[in-house]
Amino acid sequence: NTPTLTPFKRICIIGAGYVGAPTGAVIAYETNFDVAVVDYNAQRIAAWNSADLPIYESGLDHIVKSTRDGISKHADGVTTRSNLVFTTDVEGSIDAADIIFIAVNTPTKTQGRGKGYAADLRFVEEATRTIAKVAKADKIVVEKSTVPVKTAESVRMILMANAHPGVRFEVLSNPEYLAEGQAVADLLDPDRILIGSLPTPEGLKAADTLVEVYSQWVERSKIITMNLWSSELAKLAANAMLAQRISNVNALSAICEKTGASVDEVAYACGLDHRIGKGMLKAGPGFGGSCFRKDILSLVYLSETLGLPEVANYWRGVVDINEYQKDRFTKRVISCLFNTLTNKKIAVLGFTFKKNTADIRESPAITMVTNFLSEGAQVAVYDPRARKQQILVDLHQARDDTVALENNLMICGDAYRACDGADAVVVLTEWDEFSNVDLPTPEVQTADPVALRRSTVLDPNANNFVPEGTKHKEEELCA
Ligand code: NAD
Repeated sequence: NTPTLTPFKRICIIGAGYVGAPTGAVIAYETNFDVAVVDYNAQRIAAWNSADLPIYESGLDHIVKSTRDGISKHADGVTTRSNLVFTTDVEGSIDAADIIFIAVNTPTKTQGRGKGYAADLRFVEEATRTIAKVAKADKIVVEKSTVPVKTAESVRMILMANAHPGVRFEVLSNPEYLAEGQAVADLLDPDRILIGSLPTPEGLKAADTLVEVYSQWVERSKIITMNLWSSELAKLAANAMLAQRISNVNALSAICEKTGASVDEVAYACGLDHRIGKGMLKAGPGFGGSCFRKDILSLVYLSETLGLPEVANYWRGVVDINEYQKDRFTKRVISCLFNTLTNKKIAVLGFTFKKNTADIRESPAITMVTNFLSEGAQVAVYDPRARKQQILVDLHQARDDTVALENNLMICGDAYRACDGADAVVVLTEWDEFSNVDLPTPEVQTADPVALRRSTVLDPNANNFVPEGTKHKEEELCA
């Protein structure tokens, strides 16, 4: 009784976040399916229905607006019907759909068993229970969220235990590999699409249905089917390995700074080995974003619960080095400024966790700016995309002493205003535009003129500290 694909399959995506909304928009753009992206966050849905989308990704505006509003979709100007809706009607949209993607958040648990490590699956559970409650016909349920291996078993049990009589569900794993900052390009042309299913006839048939959906625009050879548990684990594994690479190079950067070796040269030399490859080998202030840390911690917890403490310790080291790097970076800045930041102005260029996104979740900048403020510095932040309000909210959460924050933090409209009169300029995100910032030559030498940069954006051969006098623009102080 597993549903078979019809030309106008209806798809519902639960969770209008960084994954769910762009995924839904790309499916609508590339197929004739009707797609409903649902969320119980009315403000978020309203933003997706407005002219000012809540997420910045290159190309997303065009894809969302053409599918949502039904204006010309492709470059050839062909006009098509509108086949994408954003709605808070979660239940109605689930009931109407044949395929339902669960793309809700899976943060780290903040209380109870596994606190600080385990993935908090309450949103997945809630979405699953809603599906079971409202579905009056068979559905394919697709796990899009990143979850611990074996979650599909719990999803399946909840669905079966709460299903309306005669209604059947097939659960698939289809983890998302998009990278923020290039989400649309990744969705249009992914490295691979994983589809995990149970090896039963019904499971395999459901997997075929999802293969057919993706085949509308993804090369068939890139769509890989496998067992459910491999698919679930492959997502956590990929994020753990990517984060591990960053911690590898950051750990090497500490050795370089003690010895006079250049981490850029060491990384370049390593990357030339085809077995290692060149990607993700840039030293910096540590990884951020909503995924790497939580997914490795989830892997650590998983290893522990599977009775594998040595494996847990191995992966924990990746997160430990990341924390160490942020701390080390702060100390370097302080030591470069004669061991005190009191009444000094630090310009921070870049606040997002990586370039080409407005996302500041878990950005190292939050820790660094908090540390600078705690040391008594005046901090002037400029980021091309990060929203001022979000920066303030995140810094308020990271800090107790809001008075110091309000008196000592400036959010500036451009890099030059941030750098004006600064004792030091610290580049925390490698936005391309920073490579064109032309700052005056330092008048005073730093105490420790060693490069502290996420990339070679300001000066590939020297430091990013530009000591000058201290002039503060009162009108930019945050109220
Ligand atoms: P997000 O927080 O941006 O969005 C999740 C949305 O789900 C929120 O808007 C929330 O209101 C909504 N939601 C939660 N429970 C709901 C429910 N029961 N009904 C309706 N709406 C509900 O999260 P995200 O960044 O899009 O991540 C989603 C998942 O994808 C996570 O598991 C994450 O690990 C994974 N992932 C994220 C990325 C990324 O780059 N952000 C990449 C790959 C995978």
